Amino acid sequence: RIAYVNGRYQPHRAAAVHIEDRGYQFADGVYEVVPVQRGKLIDEDLHLDRLEFSLGELEIAAPMERRALKLVLREVLRRNGIDRGILYMQVTRGVAPRDHKFPVMARPALVITAKRLKPVPAKYLEEGVGVITLPDLRWKRCDIKTIALLPNVLGKQRAAEEGAYEAWQVDPDGNVTEGTSTNAWIVTKDRKIVTRPLGHEILPGVTRRALLELLQATDFTLEERSFTLDEALAAAEAFLTSSSVYLLPITRIDGRKVGNGKPGEFSKRLRQLYLDHAERQATA
Ligand code: PLP
Repeated sequence: RIAYVNGRYQPHRAAAVHIEDRGYQFADGVYEVVPVQRGKLIDEDLHLDRLEFSLGELEIAAPMERRALKLVLREVLRRNGIDRGILYMQVTRGVAPRDHKFPVMARPALVITAKRLKPVPAKYLEEGVGVITLPDLRWKRCDIKTIALLPNVLGKQRAAEEGAYEAWQVDPDGNVTEGTSTNAWIVTKDRKIVTRPLGHEILPGVTRRALLELLQATDFTLEERSFTLDEALAAAEAFLTSSSVYLLPITRIDGRKVGNGKPGEFSKRLRQLYLDHAERQATA
């Protein structure tokens, strides 16, 4: 595998950044994960828009222009021969002697890696996955895709220890914010698709956005509003979205069945809607 590190293509296992990179010392950086299908980047511009937003909010300069970055992304994919997988890019504020204030001289540091992904296990699609729930311990700007992910790490670890796929985080009002690396959705018994509106409390998922746009052209009923954990427990269906798995049905929340405990019709149809969207880009 080959990694791109600040202008150089290096063998992945030997690729390294300096010990005083601010990403390492302060988690002072942002990242993106872009799905790759048939060697093509899916919803690339939406990811690059979000990267620019995250950088802007943290006042980190863009490491290069979008056009140049797109060329580098393709080169990383080519050198790694990725057909289906993900591309990871990370920008930190750069290398400087440790001091909380922004360094005057540092240049932003860019690392890009790519990896192949195995297809989503059939079991996840046939049986759905389980989520646990946890208080949302994250900071108040979850809309910025920063590499500061400790609560997410702890949540995902707890989920794994409890035999679940994901941890849904719940705000002090009892509303579900999102998973540790996925957006959260439910389908109510009266057939409405519900997902939390954008705000500082959740990441503006690209898969979420693409799915919302796809839904505009269908007769599904959509409600962008907060939903409580109790409402999710009483829902007909639940599912999650992200760039690496696209859409997975959720059939257990805290060990309790969602609906009849099987992946629901909506989850299956919406997954297919998204798959078709990705495939259209992959074969364009
Ligand atoms: N929410 C969080 C906290 C995430 O980390 C992610 C993705 O990594 C998502 C949601 C899903 O976003 P996307 O669909 O852009 O992958």
